[in-house]
Amino acid sequence: MNKNHNSNIKQTEANNNQNSDLIKTEVLLGFGSNLGDRRGFIEQGWAAVCGLVGVEAVCISSLIETQAVGGELNQPDFLNAAGLIRTTLLPEILLDRLQEIENSFGRIRTVRWGARTLDIDILLYGNSIINTNRLKVPHPLMFQRNFVLIPASEIAPEMILTVANTHGIILENF
Ligand code: AMP
Repeated sequence: MNKNHNSNIKQTEANNNQNSDLIKTEVLLGFGSNLGDRRGFIEQGWAAVCGLVGVEAVCISSLIETQAVGGELNQPDFLNAAGLIRTTLLPEILLDRLQEIENSFGRIRTVRWGARTLDIDILLYGNSIINTNRLKVPHPLMFQRNFVLIPASEIAPEMILTVANTHGIILENF
């Protein structure tokens, strides 16, 4: 098998992960950490996302600190932020990449809503509604949780309003 053929296969695999026209979709991400170097994990996680093939950084919000909601009792407080990217990656491929990044920060999924070094959620993927086994977008809790909505609305208020208006989602206190 010659070298060109091999590189063609790689090229094809790379393209299969992306939408066919390589259209960039704006995607709003939520970041959270409540273990160890929380600020460092969020900053490095954002840098890792921005370094992905097929991802272009737009901006990241300020950090917000809140008490943990749900899950284990007496968890350390969370730092949260939102990040806006433009990407050609298809939603579930993006989720794969984000989970690889979470895992590289030592995230182990034990308890739902348990303490975590780095959590990255897809909050909005353009104006899409996605409802698969692995992926629900808009993220089901984003409109109810201020620690998600406050940083998200700092960087993408129009995107949030457009999605809410299009899909009849009522935003209280927005
Ligand atoms: P969490 O513990 O909050 O990180 O939840 C992770 C699980 O939520 C994974 O199994 C994902 O497949 C699933 N999931 C569903 N919708 C989303 C979303 N919008 N963003 C990230 N993970 C999601």
